[in-house]
Amino acid sequence: MLSAIDDARDEIVDFTSELIRVPTVNPPGDAYEDCARLLGAKLASIGFEVEYFPADGRPEHTRTHPRINVVGLRRGRAPRPSVHLNGHLDVVPAGSGWTVDPFDGTVRDGRVYGRGACDMKAGIAAAVFAAEAIRRAGADLAGSVEISGTVDEESGGFAGAAWLAERGRLSSARTDYVIIPEPLNVDRICLGHRGVYWFEIETRGRIAHGSMPFLGVSAIDHMTLIVDRLRRELVPVLAGRTTAMPVVPGAARHATLNINGIAGGQAVGGIQTPCVADRCRAVFDRRFLAEEPFDLVKGEIRALVDRVAAQTPDLSFDLRDLMIVHPVSAPADSPLVASLERAVQRVLGRAATHVASPGTYDQKHVDRIGGIRHCVAYGPGILDLAHQPDEWCGIDDLVSATKVIALAVLELAGL
Ligand SMILES: [Zn+2]
Repeated sequence: MLSAIDDARDEIVDFTSELIRVPTVNPPGDAYEDCARLLGAKLASIGFEVEYFPADGRPEHTRTHPRINVVGLRRGRAPRPSVHLNGHLDVVPAGSGWTVDPFDGTVRDGRVYGRGACDMKAGIAAAVFAAEAIRRAGADLAGSVEISGTVDEESGGFAGAAWLAERGRLSSARTDYVIIPEPLNVDRICLGHRGVYWFEIETRGRIAHGSMPFLGVSAIDHMTLIVDRLRRELVPVLAGRTTAMPVVPGAARHATLNINGIAGGQAVGGIQTPCVADRCRAVFDRRFLAEEPFDLVKGEIRALVDRVAAQTPDLSFDLRDLMIVHPVSAPADSPLVASLERAVQRVLGRAATHVASPGTYDQKHVDRIGGIRHCVAYGPGILDLAHQPDEWCGIDDLVSATKVIALAVLELAGL
């Protein structure tokens, strides 16, 4: 079977390039249907039953930007065990700084270039050709293999993996194991990720003429007080908390807080208005650890802002939750992890390392909504190159990851 993958090297690269040439840029969610159809047609041509799932009921599923997911099923002798390989079709915008066309799928010097090359169109191609190599080798699987292409991972995955999980199409009732071929590097198995708490604080002041600020109450001044106290009192505490999860890079093994955005008063670049700002909003991104109960995460922020308010005349604020994602982790003794470990050892001749991701990805939906604990990320490409200009995936790694996934699927779905 492994030689079938070596023989398919050019096909794997060509399919990766083909996927890159469909510019599934998110936001706004361009060309999803074209990409879903491309993957669906490929799966149909290699023996999969293919279904398309428009994300009906989701507000972002619109006529101009339809959210179309695709799932292919190749039946074995029985429905279970079922191994599901899930990749996201969307890519982030190209941005500037490219020296190649980001949507050309250029192949040069043993690499495939383009937006989404590593994150994660190479991973989707690896999944497809892992399944195909099993077929070409004539293996008759006991269980079934599914491959899905889902939308919107880069913006939360609610019309994609979450939608399939909510509808039971990606759930423990029918699926045993899920591998998400995100670019975690070819010798690393990603068990899960930290939690996310996005929240917004809005301060409210009182408008007055900017020439007489003492007659008003500045919402911006009050926001800077809050930000300053969070930075001085909470951030050092967070830096002192360490998770046992193998998060990479090591600096992300601690709890963190980032300010994603801040806006108040006159719009930047807008018409000059000499006013005391009566409103200021800031969005915060708190990444929390499996060891931190969410009530503590939220409670300590609330308590600190309440303290600032109590010490500051006229400070009035609202704190709103925007998104809560709990940490997830596959059990370290999962048969899925063991299979991938054996496969990495066999293909690369070295031991796999276990990692966890600093940010989240669709595993949260597979685990939390779908109830599938045996889910990990494993795929080709170097994580640091994701979302960068001149993103690329090494072809040797792409071929190796295809082999690893094929061996793991073979073992998990059973002969
Ligand atoms: Zn990704």
